[in-house]
Amino acid sequence: MKQKIAVIGCGISGLSSALMLIREGHEVQIISKTLPPHTTSNKAAAFWSPYYAEGERVIRWAAESYEEYETLCLIGESGVSMTKLHRFRKKDFVEAEDWESAIPEGAYRALPAQQIPPGYEEGFEVEVPLIETQIFLPWLMDEFSDTGGQIIQRELKSLHELRNDYDLIIHCTGLDARTLVNDNAMIPVKGQIAMVDLHLNIPIILDESEPTYIVQRKDGMIVGGTREENVFSETTEEETLTDILERASKFIPAIKSARRITQWAGLRPYRNEVRLEKEGHIIHNYGHGGSGFTLAWGCAGEVVKLSRLS
Ligand SMILES: Cc1cc2nc3c(=O)[nH]c(=O)nc-3n(C[C@H](O)[C@H](O)[C@H](O)COP(=O)(O)OP(=O)(O)OC[C@H]3O[C@@H](n4cnc5c(N)ncnc54)[C@H](O)[C@@H]3O)c2cc1C
Repeated sequence: MKQKIAVIGCGISGLSSALMLIREGHEVQIISKTLPPHTTSNKAAAFWSPYYAEGERVIRWAAESYEEYETLCLIGESGVSMTKLHRFRKKDFVEAEDWESAIPEGAYRALPAQQIPPGYEEGFEVEVPLIETQIFLPWLMDEFSDTGGQIIQRELKSLHELRNDYDLIIHCTGLDARTLVNDNAMIPVKGQIAMVDLHLNIPIILDESEPTYIVQRKDGMIVGGTREENVFSETTEEETLTDILERASKFIPAIKSARRITQWAGLRPYRNEVRLEKEGHIIHNYGHGGSGFTLAWGCAGEVVKLSRLS
């Protein structure tokens, strides 16, 4: 049955949920304090990689999202492409996330010893979706609007403000759920990034132990990063950026002398378990940590399933 639905939040969680719901035939409005490019989602690297996200459903959502991105990359203007990623591990690195079971067979293979940099014990080549947020988020907004969706810029003090106006509310406010629904399990995990003026034909490079990652986008090369738990400030620090660039230049020496275009810091909305559940006429969908893009389509599909429950 057609429902009138408000999606709160216009980051990747809100946009993916809103788009899947409107394609189901519902009347959908996005209500959001800020819009792209002013969301945490715009600050993501953003490549498919289960990272800093908890819960037994995470790998399933990651697998479902991977599949959806394979379709999205066929649409030239979406800003999604399938890209090679080289993942390196030091000796004592303990893998927290299980990538292999979330991707198609053959998309994950060990690298030969001569391609593994000194100091690393193992290396893998993985085919992953790369999502250029600066292209993909506006594209999603256009898709939503073109399907009849409405985007309203408004800050809510409480989800109850909407109680009488909608059949269903999808709550996707990321870290702000901490205050909006008093969820103290939400903690920020700060990440800092520099973007340098390099355009090279290289795979994504990832060393999770630091973490260090290098991502070639159309507008420059992203060089990250940090994971700073419980840090609320969104400012970058010169000393940290220098360290990031130093680490990354061990993989790509040209980074050392490259001109820095810009830098930023964002807060990953981490929770001990992604909250995706129905509570009365509200469906919560937040707490995706460092995996908002990696999980988005699996989670949005689950939102659609929950929306069918009366
Ligand atoms: C440095 C960094 C690198 C990352 N790299 C990756 C990566 O490579 N791959 C990956 O998958 N993920 C990555 N992430 C994680 C990813 O960015 C997040 O998991 C994702 O952006 C969360 O999306 P969201 O839509 O849940 O939240 P957000 O993007 O934060 O969106 C929340 C929305 O809610 C709105 N809102 C908040 N409060 C209110 C209110 N009171 N009323 C109305 N609206 C409100 C906001 O305005 C915003 O529109 C990275 C994150 C960082 C910081």
